[in-house]
Amino acid sequence: MAELERECEVVVVGAGYSGLAAARDLARSAVDVLVLDARHRVGGRSFTDVTPAGFTIDRGGQWIGPTQDHLAALAAELGVGTFPTYTTGQGVELRDGRRELYVGLIPTSDPHGAADGIAAMLDLDLAAFEVPLDAPWEAPDAAALDAQTLATWFDAHLGSASARAILEVAVKAVFGTGSGELSLLFALFYLHAGGGLTNLARSTGGAQERRFAGGSQQLAQGMADELGDRVILGAPAESVAHGPDGVLVGGRLVDPGADPADPSSAHRPLRVRARRAIFAMAPGLCGRLAYTPALPGRRDQLCQRMPMGAVTKVHVNYDAPFWREDGLNGQIVAPGAAMSATFDNSPEDGSHGEIVGFIAGDECRRLEGAGAEVRRELVLADLERAFGPRARTPVEVVEQHWLAEPFTRGGPVAVSSPGALTALGPALREPVGPLHWAGTETATEWCGYLDGALSSGRRAADEVLRALKGEPGGLD
Ligand SMILES: Cc1cc2nc3c(=O)[nH]c(=O)nc-3n(C[C@H](O)[C@H](O)[C@H](O)COP(=O)(O)OP(=O)(O)OC[C@H]3O[C@@H](n4cnc5c(N)ncnc54)[C@H](O)[C@@H]3O)c2cc1C
Repeated sequence: MAELERECEVVVVGAGYSGLAAARDLARSAVDVLVLDARHRVGGRSFTDVTPAGFTIDRGGQWIGPTQDHLAALAAELGVGTFPTYTTGQGVELRDGRRELYVGLIPTSDPHGAADGIAAMLDLDLAAFEVPLDAPWEAPDAAALDAQTLATWFDAHLGSASARAILEVAVKAVFGTGSGELSLLFALFYLHAGGGLTNLARSTGGAQERRFAGGSQQLAQGMADELGDRVILGAPAESVAHGPDGVLVGGRLVDPGADPADPSSAHRPLRVRARRAIFAMAPGLCGRLAYTPALPGRRDQLCQRMPMGAVTKVHVNYDAPFWREDGLNGQIVAPGAAMSATFDNSPEDGSHGEIVGFIAGDECRRLEGAGAEVRRELVLADLERAFGPRARTPVEVVEQHWLAEPFTRGGPVAVSSPGALTALGPALREPVGPLHWAGTETATEWCGYLDGALSSGRRAADEVLRALKGEPGGLD
């Protein structure tokens, strides 16, 4: 097939929230921009879909909370409404074969454990607020913090096994990893960026406060609609040649319906020449492209040492949110279970019931090969224990296994291994010649979230605009 050659001032690789936000700002400044995305859709980790039973679900990011101002402003601009997460009533704790009800942020069946857990969360937040958001590697004691994991902090600060178990559930839900996989410095930075662990774990007043009526992908689609044919889908980038004269991104333009991850799918070779490029995806995915000349060692090492978390998002749909009749809010905390945290994810009008939950961290990796039937059985057994026999007979169980997604490879976010931030942190945003880096992982506020993706894209667009104009601070 004939090669497709395009030229533009700036090419953006990735049409998730960050890439689209970057491209939109550039286009609004009259820059000739093209956006490539490997998938046949925009949105990346934001993916709204209709299930086989006909329910609309968010397979990826879905919640918006207070202080996520970039996200709220975009939703308002596009006329996308939000509604509150259902939180009325009690949560269920499943632990050691017992079922206990609780009210508030964390289970209280072991009151001493609950007090220990809350004190530790507050201590952690106080430590987090000491870490500078734009340069965590400059925190007081950065090297010592980065030489530890969050697990070592828990070992030193949590006396109670039950508090530890509850906090591990929260960590898995937030990061998609266990606490032993996270640099303590990174964890503190991330918590600070989202207003603290208490804020990240909360629905009312916190990160899970509201959802988008009709799904979060509408916001990505709204940005893409403004960009029109400047967005090219089914276009996996594979190679990046770069130098003082600009950048040449090589890849494939895959036929609609063909698998972009399969190199043998029907396609045309694609080459895009530009003065600058923005890579708007997680560091690990940036690291999979073939660069000529090779990326500086520090940038490549950073890409190697910021692995994705592991998460399978599970939607269990029912004909009604029946647990509400029993005064339950749909939240389960189940340390050690396959799906250790759930929420009531029913539509605003309650026209059907939906529980959403996360199989995360090691459970996600361990159960990957077990098959959907095994996971379904584990999930339904726990839902039955929590909500009674009606939970056994859902209309459907729909999984989104983000590890298997070739153009995401995990989720919800990339994390930082011990030692990586202090050794390599500045390489996170530092341009390499004409190459710039966006993606939620580069954000200084709400890192890892939709809001952080937007601000990261806008920051990268600003960087590129200044560089194109040759302005001081334009990084060249
Ligand atoms: C299960 C789950 C739940 C989440 N829940 C929430 C939530 O409730 N609230 C919240 O705020 N955030 C949530 N998040 C996080 C949020 O979804 C992300 O922070 C955000 O979507 C990241 O946007 P991004 O643009 O940085 O990256 P991405 O969305 O990952 O976009 C990167 C894009 O690059 C493309 N790409 C990759 N490789 C190539 C290539 N070689 N060539 C071309 N294109 C390529 C991908 O297809 C993708 O579209 C969740 C994430 C997951 C997975």
